[in-house]
Amino acid sequence: MAAVATSEARRAELVELFNTVSSCTACSLSETRTKVVFGSGNADAELMFVGEAPGFHEDQQGLPFVGAAGKLLESLLGEIGLSREDVFIGNVLKCRPPGNRDPQADEIEACQSHLFRQIELIQPRVVATLGNFATKLLSGSPTGITRVHGCEQSVRLGNSEVLLYPIYHPAAALYTRAMLSVLEEDFARLPQLLGREPAPTTSETAPVVPVATPVATEYETQLDLF
Ligand code: SF4
Repeated sequence: MAAVATSEARRAELVELFNTVSSCTACSLSETRTKVVFGSGNADAELMFVGEAPGFHEDQQGLPFVGAAGKLLESLLGEIGLSREDVFIGNVLKCRPPGNRDPQADEIEACQSHLFRQIELIQPRVVATLGNFATKLLSGSPTGITRVHGCEQSVRLGNSEVLLYPIYHPAAALYTRAMLSVLEEDFARLPQLLGREPAPTTSETAPVVPVATPVATEYETQLDLF
């Protein structure tokens, strides 16, 4: 499919994709979900995050990263001078696996075209994969996140050439200080990968503190920021 030229056209196609995905029944997760979680954020984002799958709160609200991991993600973004409004956040799966179990291969196979199309339409410069599932899918390699986190690589996804940047899932750092430090270090390289000025050193900014309680989302609908 040819690349869509203008921001307005890409935005319109993203809304069309949102409508398509909202009624998707391509895998059995459609039978147990409460809401499809398409993803939310800036349709022209230079930086896109791809997590694993919606959890309980995401499934209830239809929005990605609205629980404790989302709060930590927002804090980490703040550390590098960005906010949720600057980025687009989505997942490999758009529907919650029951009991938050791991995504299954057939579910990833059924859902991956939605993600690839999102990347094609948003055209981010950097795609940060959060954890193993997103990293393995978008890198096309079985190498796990422990070995590849913090190592960017150029990949072609559909019609888009992007810089893939694997990092740990924020949920992994919620209760482990050592993991949080690794995540902070990997986040600190994002401005450079985006071609921006480096973020201030952490000594000049407030420390990121893991927050283990769910937070309310300010977003009313997934289309707020399109
Ligand atoms: Fe469709 Fe993906 Fe939801 Fe499965 S997880 S029903 S493929 S949107």
